[in-house]
Amino acid sequence: MISQIARTISRSATLKLNETAAILKAKGDPVIHLGGGEPKGKAPLDAITASAALLNSSEVRYTPPDGIPALKKAIIRYTEEHYRHSPAPENVMASSGAKQAIMVALQAILNPQEEVIFPAPYWVSYPDMCRLIGAVGVPVLPEDGSFHPRLRDIEQMVGPYTKALIINSPNNPSGAVYSKELIAEIVEFCEQRGLWLIMDDIYHRLVFDGRKPVNCWDFVKDKTESSKLIIINGISKAYAMTGFRIGWAVGNKTVIEAMTNIQGHQTSGPSVVLQQAAVGALNGVQSGVETLRETLENNRNVLIDRLRSFPGVKVTPPGGTFYCFADFSAYDKSSVRLSEFLLKKVQVVTVPGAEFGLDGHLRISYCGSIKDITEGVERMKWALDPNAPNELFIGQRKLVRDWT
Ligand code: PMP
Repeated sequence: MISQIARTISRSATLKLNETAAILKAKGDPVIHLGGGEPKGKAPLDAITASAALLNSSEVRYTPPDGIPALKKAIIRYTEEHYRHSPAPENVMASSGAKQAIMVALQAILNPQEEVIFPAPYWVSYPDMCRLIGAVGVPVLPEDGSFHPRLRDIEQMVGPYTKALIINSPNNPSGAVYSKELIAEIVEFCEQRGLWLIMDDIYHRLVFDGRKPVNCWDFVKDKTESSKLIIINGISKAYAMTGFRIGWAVGNKTVIEAMTNIQGHQTSGPSVVLQQAAVGALNGVQSGVETLRETLENNRNVLIDRLRSFPGVKVTPPGGTFYCFADFSAYDKSSVRLSEFLLKKVQVVTVPGAEFGLDGHLRISYCGSIKDITEGVERMKWALDPNAPNELFIGQRKLVRDWT
């Protein structure tokens, strides 16, 4: 029999949908994937040449569990540039993706039963990461129905077992960019209460409408080794390098040492080939990040425009990321059912809001092509609008409505 903890880890509805989508695609169905979580662009050339050079040497070895010095140096430089903070190498740990960095941080700071607060909608993995270590994730749903929590909402959930907060802004799935004021309040609140604050900044450079990334470090009063702020970042999103699996954590020396010890036993640290690729990306030509950001902003504008002409759908324009979290509850209160319906009837993949702790919504990604975005929304509209014509052509294929 598998363990009690393993039994609490659910198979995500997203993976199930992806599987169904792959089966439909293999059958030749014209599936449009608006459920993705990765930019479509190519990895920076500097990343490829750096990792290829190492591969060509045929000497691919273990590294220190917290990362090779060159990568730590590049992360320090990145932190100086984007956070005006100059950590020592002992304040930095490279990891196999931001995901592992967060997981190991939670393992380093939480005892069983202790609680971690995060605003809802939240990234799907946070609750399961907590469960994996016998801790408890506590979502906070903003009371005013917006995607922006208020400190008051968070404060109400803090109890004797609360040990940490995870803040993810720009937010997956809502695309909400929390205000500078809110981040400042949260940083101050955690310092006053002695709570750990994990800032999941993986989307921080992908912001729109002239916004600047909010720098949490600006608001830290205690900039010593007793600071309980852990900054998480990585190359997956901004550099379109999801498959390279490199992320990192910046925190006080004690927590980074504990995290390094844990990671050392789990994986001995990320692959050196991929660490070299990350060094290439971080130290190389940076223009790709801005190009990606501009493309995403344009895609967002197109998506928002299309969704707004969709009666009944409530759209909150995302300020960053490549996700839009739209309220479809006028069509179906069950997001899982709606998402399955859209996949089955018009072969469009979306992610049900229930996965992120907020039913009635669908997460629609705009990291794909404009054609996919416009055609995908068109098909969704056809499927859901009772006044739409009875037939829809997808290329040569004729879809006929057999539902009302
Ligand atoms: N945090 C959030 C909010 C994410 O959306 C993701 C990726 N989907 C991650 C962390 C993990 O990123 P990585 O690929 O670096 O593990």
